[in-house]
Amino acid sequence: MTDCIFCKIAAKQIPSRTIFEDDDLIAFHDINPAAPVHFLIVPKQHVSTLADCDERHAALLSKMLLLATRLANEQGCGYIAGSDGDGSGGFKTQFNTGPDGGQEVYHLHLHVIGGPRPWRGQR
Ligand code: AMP
Ligand code: ZN
Repeated sequence: MTDCIFCKIAAKQIPSRTIFEDDDLIAFHDINPAAPVHFLIVPKQHVSTLADCDERHAALLSKMLLLATRLANEQGCGYIAGSDGDGSGGFKTQFNTGPDGGQEVYHLHLHVIGGPRPWRGQR
């Protein structure tokens, strides 16, 4: 998609503060962070929204979610699996879908938002 900002970031035509990249995904800090940690996990392949995904995207979506945990740890807002809320840390994972979902960029992306509260707004 020539006009898509996240396709351009994936193709390095627009700079981003990248924290992870492989053949399928790129992750970079959100330019307008809602919290101390706020990054986006984006497939390199153009898919417009979560609603455009089907079974063929299952592996990609799974990879995005599992990467969220790993990168949240690396970015300092990880949560210790098994601590069942006794520990600290943690993060939100969010797909905005469509106008009423608040989606602004129509290239699939997973928000990962965390860090010490309070956060700006309450996303
Ligand atoms: P959404 O409302 O889910 O479509 O969110 C799009 C997100 O992309 C917003 O949080 C924006 O701040 C973020 N964003 C837009 N342009 C850029 C960019 N060039 N680099 C990093 N983040 C961006
Ligand atoms: Zn795109």
